[in-house]
Amino acid sequence: MNMPKKATQVKETKPPKVKAPAAEDQAKKKPKTPQLVRGMRDILPEDQPYWRRCYEVAQKLADEFGFERIELPVVEPEELFVRSVGKTTDIVEKEMYVFEDSEGGKLALRPEATASFCRSYIANGLMSRPQPQKLWLWGPMFRHDRPQAGRYRQFFQADYEVIGDASPVADAQVILLTYLFFTELGLNVEMHINSIGSPEDRSRYKMELVQWYRTRKKGLCENCQKRLVRNPLRLLDCKEPGCAEIRKDAPQILDWLSTEAKEHFMHVLEYLDELGIPYFLDPFIVRGLDYYTKTVFEFVAVGAQDKAQIALCGGGRYDLLIEQLGGKPTPACGVAPGIDRAVIAMKEQNVTLPPAPKPQIFVAQLGEQGRRRALALYNRLREAGFVLAESFAKDSLKTQLDNANQKGIPYVLLVGQREVMDNTVIIRDMESGNQEIVDYQKIVNEMKKKFK
Ligand code: AMP
Repeated sequence: MNMPKKATQVKETKPPKVKAPAAEDQAKKKPKTPQLVRGMRDILPEDQPYWRRCYEVAQKLADEFGFERIELPVVEPEELFVRSVGKTTDIVEKEMYVFEDSEGGKLALRPEATASFCRSYIANGLMSRPQPQKLWLWGPMFRHDRPQAGRYRQFFQADYEVIGDASPVADAQVILLTYLFFTELGLNVEMHINSIGSPEDRSRYKMELVQWYRTRKKGLCENCQKRLVRNPLRLLDCKEPGCAEIRKDAPQILDWLSTEAKEHFMHVLEYLDELGIPYFLDPFIVRGLDYYTKTVFEFVAVGAQDKAQIALCGGGRYDLLIEQLGGKPTPACGVAPGIDRAVIAMKEQNVTLPPAPKPQIFVAQLGEQGRRRALALYNRLREAGFVLAESFAKDSLKTQLDNANQKGIPYVLLVGQREVMDNTVIIRDMESGNQEIVDYQKIVNEMKKKFK
């Protein structure tokens, strides 16, 4: 449709004055970035070499000791943790993320994984497979604790569990694996070990402990005064200096163990002696979770800056848990190294990581056609096993060569429009500056010859 031509004279008018938006208004319009949730954190690329190293060692040891990988959900029924970790523990009382889903069930983000292993063992009938079942996982745990250095609301653990073996050799194997995990990461660690016997041993000991603490109640921190009534064993691992001082003279659980628990513990220590793994007998390690029986242990980083957060892992035996969760009586033990803290310790102890593989070839390009060919070339070289680098986002050849230079890459392969037409590639030796032109089809072989 033809628009009618108008010859109207337009009177020049001044544009209406538009009020410049106040800085405040402008700020309002700028979309706000949602905040990181308190206690959560991003683990950025510069930290990943440490995390990768931890995973490599965790996986290698799992293979060497015959642990099979298992994946378990991060969401479980709240009840699972209430019945296993224990109603009066800090984790269940204060730290669990609990929510109701639309179907009305009370769910929790897992604060730890041992209970989930047991649920899965029962639900999947793993007792009918060869025993013991040796399983491991790696994943995030969630605790709504007060955040501080080394204490996060989402943190990662590797978990190793031996389910279906009552013998002390299982405890010793788990401890050996843990010891190797930290030492192969290059960490200087100490192991603290104790036995907390059976529930009967513990209840006799608890009576004695409460009696002993009653006359010393005034010197305890507020938390411990409550613990005296609700969970007296936790008095023993309070980190407050006043409580630690009082505890020095407290009765020790080893004196209240049954003969069976004592013998089990002696055997575990004999295995450790045979292996040459050093340990401290520590009567105050009781662990904060209800399900432990007999052996309990922790590894700590030597010389850590923050003494309150030095526990690198917690582990021990939990012979009654599977039965408590509705399974057949099944003895078990395990350990959970905390990865966030292992990484902190690696940095504090200046651990050197194995160097990352250095790129051998930089693939450079010029022009749109060159870029298209360059990506295909990159893929061919990748398939042939070369370690590569590129700056495909850059147009300038100089910038690309500078990048290659900064990274100390010995060869740049260059493809421009001309090379695409001729079906060739330019090889530039970065040290001598010499260039040669090679047939595109022969480039992989040519490069192999250079790295012979
Ligand atoms: P637990 O399950 O309490 O025995 O913890 C085992 C290990 O997990 C600890 O020794 C820590 O290394 C790690 N861990 C526990 N809680 C946290 C947390 N809130 N932040 C970071 N690491 C943690």
